[in-house]
Amino acid sequence: MILDKFRLDGKVAIVTGSNTGLGQGICRAFVEAGALVAGVSRRPSDETEAMLGDKFYNVIADLSTIESVPVIIEKTLKKFGKIDILVNNAGVIKRQDSIEFSEENWDSVLNVNLKTVFFLTQAAARQFIKQKSGGKVINIASMLSYQGGIRVPSYTASKSALKGVTMTLSNEWAQFGICVNAIAPGYMATNNTQQLRQDDDRSADILSRIPAGRWGTPEDLEGAAVFLASSASDYVNGFTLAVDGGWLGR
Ligand code: NAP
Repeated sequence: MILDKFRLDGKVAIVTGSNTGLGQGICRAFVEAGALVAGVSRRPSDETEAMLGDKFYNVIADLSTIESVPVIIEKTLKKFGKIDILVNNAGVIKRQDSIEFSEENWDSVLNVNLKTVFFLTQAAARQFIKQKSGGKVINIASMLSYQGGIRVPSYTASKSALKGVTMTLSNEWAQFGICVNAIAPGYMATNNTQQLRQDDDRSADILSRIPAGRWGTPEDLEGAAVFLASSASDYVNGFTLAVDGGWLGR
């Protein structure tokens, strides 16, 4: 039955940035679809844990360095015995005029949004290949994988690169049954956009351009995440799926 293909029963997923926002929504959706989730966060994901109980296991790790990578893989394997799905959701954004943009604002964003994502994905793929199970990787990209944005050069660099690397990894790993795809959320109401939403002019500007006429929510992303994590998407490779209320089509 087609709907059974969307189920994640018995699957083990790693989701980074599990304490809040889009990551928390993806953890909830995966558990509802039948998965066990190792949620990675730099501070305890207490709220997510309270919501999901023993289907959720919190791995505390700071993704600003790749020293976190073996810890995440080892703790997940110790707890759940295998890995089937990786969602690279954690991300940071720094806003500053490009003319003054600091090295710290460049490196801190590129490290979390791109470098650690690459090496965590490499480690997960090695595990998928060892298991001979195939696997699913979902990178959380952005509208700024397609557009320039304003005052966010390191974020745009990271998210544009992430869309490209999603295709590279897909080209190399589809042969192992590993699907690497991305989701590009539009403008979603989370901490990431708090500053924008507090700026009345910018907020009105953005809203007037979204055909759906509203900011997105974590719930809006859940269907796409479950689809790309499930066997319903087994022949979808290297694609970045926009969930944006129509923003890109405008
Ligand atoms: P968010 O609420 O700010 O969530 C970001 C998550 O990343 C948080 O869990 C955050 O942890 C975690 N994180 C950041 N740096 C980390 C580090 N060094 N180590 C471990 N975890 C770290 O915003 P969000 O909107 O849910 O963002 C999720 C993803 O969606 C990000 O990749 C973002 O770029 C992307 N995105 C968001 C939008 C949007 O409109 N909201 C649009 C396009 C793409 P803390 O809570 O501890 O900071």
